[in-house]
Amino acid sequence: MKAIGLLSGGLDSSLAVKIIIDQGIDVEALKFTSPFCNCDQGGHCFSASMADDLGIKLTNIPKGQEFLDIIANPRHGYGSGMNPCIDCRIFMLKKAGEYADACGAAFVFTGEVLGQRPMSQHRDALRLIEKESGLQGKLLRPLSAKHLPETEAEKNGVVDRKRLLSITGRGRKELMSLADFYGIKGYACPAGGCLLTDKHFASRLKDHLAQKGSLNAHDVMLLKKGRHFRFGELRFILGRNETENNFLKKIFRKDQTLLEPVNVNGPTGLICGNIPGRDVLDVISSIFASYCDGVSPDVDIRITVNDTPKIISGVRAERSLFADLAV
Ligand code: SF4
Repeated sequence: MKAIGLLSGGLDSSLAVKIIIDQGIDVEALKFTSPFCNCDQGGHCFSASMADDLGIKLTNIPKGQEFLDIIANPRHGYGSGMNPCIDCRIFMLKKAGEYADACGAAFVFTGEVLGQRPMSQHRDALRLIEKESGLQGKLLRPLSAKHLPETEAEKNGVVDRKRLLSITGRGRKELMSLADFYGIKGYACPAGGCLLTDKHFASRLKDHLAQKGSLNAHDVMLLKKGRHFRFGELRFILGRNETENNFLKKIFRKDQTLLEPVNVNGPTGLICGNIPGRDVLDVISSIFASYCDGVSPDVDIRITVNDTPKIISGVRAERSLFADLAV
């Protein structure tokens, strides 16, 4: 008998996997990846190492453009940031259900805990997610199962309900002592896993969606880097370090405008949107000059549009003057 578990590499999902393995069920795990996931800090993939420790197969599934469309227009709204947690869970579990069908697995399970997260783990949300993912009766939450309706796997004896748990709420103590009991170590820290919950990033993303109404992979790459300034439909991005400067040079497209300092050290700038008029370009070049090294009041800037570079001059000013334009 086989089951499919969602494995983020955090404590809850790792425990859920262990509990199901301990019932003699063959577990295969899925990890959903997106550019908003901060779990794998320092290049370490917690899901992969946990799957190794637990001796199970792990398959990575990129969430792709479908998820970006959901972020732009979630049916069930956002959490504290721009995190569409209910739609995100529905999306992942739909995919997990398809995967389970394709490999003949009897059910899908997660490490969700009733009442742990305000948006997606209260009773009504868990019910809604189960229904809209098409997994009615086939979605097991082993950590809180005794507070939830019996699933098909429990009814038909594939899973022993008596050996499932009745954990609720936000406390970590019980979960951590279970991890000690099972010898589970090296799980991902629960804090800061999803960039969509980060206040600063969320406000930048919100600003982007208010202007553009949609989101693609290129937009996300840009939103994650640099200082951003908004001029109507136009966005100006300034690299904050060498890595970001090189990144902006690399992804610069013909429909964008690139700014580079001449004869001084300074950032790389990228204007996304139509070529700005003289007034806006004056402000942009002034912002740019204000972030360059040196003391002379003017800075020469190489500006490249449609593959044609030219030199313009930017006038330094107090950076605080541009605070209202920052997003
Ligand atoms: S926190 Fe992020 S990854 Fe987690 S459910 Fe919400 S949107 Fe999805």
